[in-house]
Parts: sequence; C-alpha cells; structure tokens
Amino acid sequence: MQAEIIAVGTEILLGDIVNTNAQFLAQELASLGIDVYYQTVVGDNPKRLEDTLFHAFSRADLVITTGGLGPTEDDLTKETGAKYFNEKMKLDERALGRIKKYFDKTGRIMTENNVKQAYVPENAIVLYNDNGTAPGILIEKNNKIMVMLPGPPKEVIPMFTEQVKPYLSKKQEYTFISRVLRVANVGESAMEMQVKDIIHRQENPTVAPYAKGMESILRITAKAKNEEEAQELISPVAKEIYDVLGDAVYAEGETNLQTVVAKLLLEKNKTIATAESCTGGLLAASLVEYPGISKVFLDGVVTYSNESKKNRLGVKGETLEKYGAVSPQTAEEMAENVAKTAGTEIGIATTGVAGPDGGTAEKPVGLVYIGLCIGGRVMSKECRFAGSRERIRERAVYSALDWLRKELLVQP
Ligand code: ATP
Repeated sequence: MQAEIIAVGTEILLGDIVNTNAQFLAQELASLGIDVYYQTVVGDNPKRLEDTLFHAFSRADLVITTGGLGPTEDDLTKETGAKYFNEKMKLDERALGRIKKYFDKTGRIMTENNVKQAYVPENAIVLYNDNGTAPGILIEKNNKIMVMLPGPPKEVIPMFTEQVKPYLSKKQEYTFISRVLRVANVGESAMEMQVKDIIHRQENPTVAPYAKGMESILRITAKAKNEEEAQELISPVAKEIYDVLGDAVYAEGETNLQTVVAKLLLEKNKTIATAESCTGGLLAASLVEYPGISKVFLDGVVTYSNESKKNRLGVKGETLEKYGAVSPQTAEEMAENVAKTAGTEIGIATTGVAGPDGGTAEKPVGLVYIGLCIGGRVMSKECRFAGSRERIRERAVYSALDWLRKELLVQP
C-alpha cells in the first residue's frame, strides 16, 4: 500500500508550529509496512486543499490528513474529502452527543458551529474523539482510503493508535517490528564500522544505523507474519550487535541517557553531588529532569572562577597555580571535594574550555576534563570536543553521564 500524508494548516506553512503529526504518522506507517512517498503541507485554502488531495489520490491508495476538522469556516478537510468520494454530508447523532458531553465535561459553552463538527460524509466510519471535539473520519471506497484526523497531536496520537492502526494493519499481510538500540558516545560512522559486517549480511531483519542528537542509533527491523516471529528474527542479530558494542549500548527503545543514569543511581541507591565549571549547571539540570531524583541527587554547585573553586570546594591554590583550572588535577579535586562537602558517595565534576575564545595551544577550545569520585576512587578523563560553545558544553555533559553510567554498572 502506498500512502501520502497531508497536513492542513496555515500555521504550519508559516512555520509557527512544527509538523510533528507527519513525523508521528510516517513512523507509524513505516512500522505497518506502508510506503509513504510524499508528505505535503497545505494552508486553509479550499482550492489548494482540493488540488493537493486529488493529486495525492492520483498516485496513492491511502491519504491521511491532519487538521482542518475544526468548527470554523476555514476548516474544510471533511467537505473536500466528501467531494473526492462523491459523498453527501449527514449529521452523526452519536458524534453530536459526544461533542455536547465534551463541552459539559470541560465546562465550556457549545456554539452553533460546533454542530458542524458532527457532520460526516454519508458512508464514512466515524473515529470518535475522547480528547477533543472534532471526530475523525475514515472513508474507504473504490480501493482508496482517506483518513482525516484532527490537528492537535494529543488527539491525533490516540485516535490513530486505537482506531486507525488496527484498521490498516488488517489490510497488511506482513507486520514490521523494530528494536531500537541506543549507543552512547560512539559516533555514527565509528559505530557503523564496528557493525558493518552485521549490517551487510542482513536482509531480514535489516539493520539501519543513524545519528540522533548526541547519540547513535541502530534500528533492527524485521518483516514477519506476527510480532513473535519478528522478535525471533531480531533476537540473534541484536545479540551479535551487543557482542560487538558491549556496554556502549546504553538502552533500548524510547529513552535517553540522563534517564538511564538517574534510574541506575536510584536502583543502586548511590547519592551524588555535582561540581561544574564549563557546563555551568547543565549536568545537574539533566539529572534533575528525572522525577524522584531528589532521593540521590543531594547537591550541585557551579564553581566558575578559581576563587569559587577554592572557597566553595576547597580546591588547593597550589593545584590551580601549578596545573590550571582546566586540568585533570583540578577536575579530580572538584569531584572529590564536592562529594566530601555534600556527604555523597559520588562526586562528579567538569572543567574545560568551552570557547569560542580562551583557548591556547596547550589548552585549546574543546578541551574538557571530567572528574569522578566513586567507590573510593578518584579519577579524571580528558575529552576533546569540536563545535560551538553550546555543543562543547552538551558533549561534556553527555560524556560525563556516560562515564558515570559505565562506572555505576560495575558498582554493587
Ligand atoms: P480541533 O478542532 O480539534 O482544534 P482541527 O482539526 O481544527 O482540530 P487545526 O485547527 O488545524 O485542527 O489545528 C489545531 C491545533 O493542532 C494547531 O493549533 C496546532 O497546535 C495543532 N496542529 C495542527 N496540525 C498539526 C501538525 N501537523 N503537527 C503538530 N501539531 C499540529
């Protein structure tokens, strides 16, 4: 089956909002094994919407639209869909009842034009909306399927997942199941080199490497009759990848590094304090993203100047003079002393040259030392990052978190 996604809305054309619905739908359709060859954005303009829809159906079997189902005059998706399928509009009593109920529940006044939302093409399947007022519509006629979804993602996601996906998956002979392996601190090309042979050997499942933000990802996708069969195809390939990449694979599925580290700290009940120079609080902020972290994250300081490193953390004047603020010695003292003063088991510190100025031949922009005090040991690590000030600071946090993760894995 070939599909197209049309996002309706002038806001998207103007760049006021990002078309996250298309991203969501594209991923979902790929997982169903439905090919998406085109995605379009069209404003709230009847003629252009009609052109776009008719053009999409000239080359696709399935068209999914989002937006333009609202109560106002310029919400015309339904009427345009009905025109394509030669369908009359009729009032759907059940949809109207649900809209009335939604207004009662949210304490808002229902206006006359909200009734417009309960009008649906005659032979359509109505997709009821528990999270908003506009019902969605599904029409299948003459081997063409049109699915009209509302605009707000909080309405689109459940409506698609609960009502549209089961409908479409019944039409697909095969299911496509993916397992996503997240790899920290190994660049995409370095990772690809390591697993190149595995990638090239595979046909089903396929292994696709890509970079996302600071991490590298391997998506293993199997085509099979059902989920169980797909998992059986994926398992041995995943095992081979784990054998090569080891603990560089930090997690699977939808998560991120700071979540994994926060969970490990909580699971192992290890208290921690941070001392930051070049990252200016970013490291503490990323740990604090995790709810419940207060049980283990006890203290975080930003010691930006030499004075503050001395006064707040007790870094020795001698260390700063002899080795400088950006040095393994300073990073180690920061980590050890922050743990001591906060009374935590772990202390972690960053100090570096974030740039764009301030670099020297000996200590160039991008040079960062991470200090770690854990399990009675005090260590430091030298990192060299390229890129903007922002990127260097983010990379420093990411590397610090990843090092901490690996050390936590071997802690009791
Ligand atoms: P409703 O009547 O439920 O508001 P609608 O079908 O009229 O839905 P629109 O008016 O087109 O939808 O959009 C409503 C809101 O949904 C937008 O203001 C925007 O916040 C969000 N939205 C719309 N389209 C998209 C999209 N493609 N991606 C992400 N968000 C979107």
